[in-house]
Amino acid sequence: MEKTKLHAAEEKLKAIYGYDCFRKGQQAIIEKVLDGIDTIGIMPTGGGKSLCYQIPALLLPGVTLVISPLISLMKDQVDALNELNIPATYLNSTLRSDEESIRHSRIKEGYYKLVYVAPERLNHPSFQQLLKHITLSLVAIDEAHCMSQWGHDFRPSYLSISSWLEEIPQQVTVLALTATATTQVCQDLQQFLQIEEQNVISTGFERSNLTFQVKKGVNKKKFMASFLASRKNESGIIYASTRKEVEQIYHELSSVGFDVTPYHGGMNEQERSKGQEAFIHDEAKIIVATNAFGMGIDKSNVRFVLHYNLPRTIEAYYQEAGRAGRDGEDSECVLLFSPQDVRTQTFLIEQSDRTNDRQEMEYKKLQQMTAFCHTERCLQQYILHYFGEDTSKTCGKCSNCVQTGEKVDRTKEAQMVFSCVKRVRERFGKTIIAQILVGSTNQKLKQLNLTSVTTYGLMSDWTQKDVAELIDILMAEEYITPTGTSYPTIQLTEKAVQVLKGEVRVQITESLAPVQPEEQDD
Ligand code: ADP
Repeated sequence: MEKTKLHAAEEKLKAIYGYDCFRKGQQAIIEKVLDGIDTIGIMPTGGGKSLCYQIPALLLPGVTLVISPLISLMKDQVDALNELNIPATYLNSTLRSDEESIRHSRIKEGYYKLVYVAPERLNHPSFQQLLKHITLSLVAIDEAHCMSQWGHDFRPSYLSISSWLEEIPQQVTVLALTATATTQVCQDLQQFLQIEEQNVISTGFERSNLTFQVKKGVNKKKFMASFLASRKNESGIIYASTRKEVEQIYHELSSVGFDVTPYHGGMNEQERSKGQEAFIHDEAKIIVATNAFGMGIDKSNVRFVLHYNLPRTIEAYYQEAGRAGRDGEDSECVLLFSPQDVRTQTFLIEQSDRTNDRQEMEYKKLQQMTAFCHTERCLQQYILHYFGEDTSKTCGKCSNCVQTGEKVDRTKEAQMVFSCVKRVRERFGKTIIAQILVGSTNQKLKQLNLTSVTTYGLMSDWTQKDVAELIDILMAEEYITPTGTSYPTIQLTEKAVQVLKGEVRVQITESLAPVQPEEQDD
């Protein structure tokens, strides 16, 4: 790229945003876009994706179209740009028709550099008419993972983007941006948008200022109270999975004097934005929210994100947890795990009217999320591995890295589990396997004729719950793998076969080994 283009981009960065230099990945993406090359940009939440299209928008002739999934955020995004004196607007269904035609006219006059739209708008006749009158230089697809069925947030309306791009007569540059692309999602995007490998710019997913912790078997309420008590002046987000739970936590915390505001889809628009504004402007230190909160919110000083319940996918978890520490300062991400949450999520998937394939994918993602809570590996490393970024580096500070407990050899018990799975020819799931091993007198085992298998009662000195947890750990460490959907069964992997042959030993950290009964609050 010519020096002058880069120089011009740097000038805009300083003059408009007041930043001295580009962050990792930004420069490479902006260079490609200014050279007219279709590009995929992958950066973690808070990495600075918006500048990757905003700066080119200011330097390219004509208009940059930003396709964004959330109508409710467009106004905020446009207001923020207008405050920087960047001429930007949005078109969506919230506008009255007279307001819409005023905006159309101004767009035609070339007044705006950026126009935000939801994907549904692309095929509107009036919008297609408008396009005939403007020069479109760049199309930025925000949250591009919504295009892929493999993404955690697939949106059918995003599917029409690629055909729309093929049909428009103008020669435009395309920039697809996302924070949560697994290898599969990235391949989908490349295929949909015909983007070559060398034009995929990924800064990696690592967030080195975040400390991840998984807390298992704690009394959630007590844990939360003491966690918050020692972080009195810090700003944080508490995610819970239901509206009811959000309300309960909110009342509990506000009754003991915490500066807190709720946020969920059951509140009206006005209440929600009031809470959101209070949180953003530090009038409320803590926001208790369902996953409806957060997309597009740019609050830099969030010091912690506490997940009161298990999210359904690693993508969703990392996106939510990633809202901590956008300013680069050290921040904490804590997840409170309880087996009940897995059951709730499984139930919700079961009840959904999704296709079988889709359900199967959701079960798999939930299993990978659950495995995150049971893995012994560095938590940051686990997440990076999930997104296809393999590294031997550990973060040195997550709850697994700082685990000081002695490793206990559980090879014998693991071999018992694997033999049992093998004995029943990999036809049953975790609960049945645990019941067989502890020698449960459950009627169902008798009916299925499982009380006569040779592994029946082999671990009778263990509780069923502890064996189930051992199975979870073995699953997280990929010795066994779940298959099937509504009735997940478990199968052995090559790693388990090596353990059975005595070639590999299974070591588990003492405090994670299922020897102590858990204290549950539900
Ligand atoms: P993303 O969309 O990737 O989650 P944003 O575009 O919202 O992230 O940027 C996150 C924060 O980082 C914003 O406050 C933004 O102003 C800031 N930021 C972006 N680029 C830079 C930069 N080069 N130098 C300093 N801060 C930056």
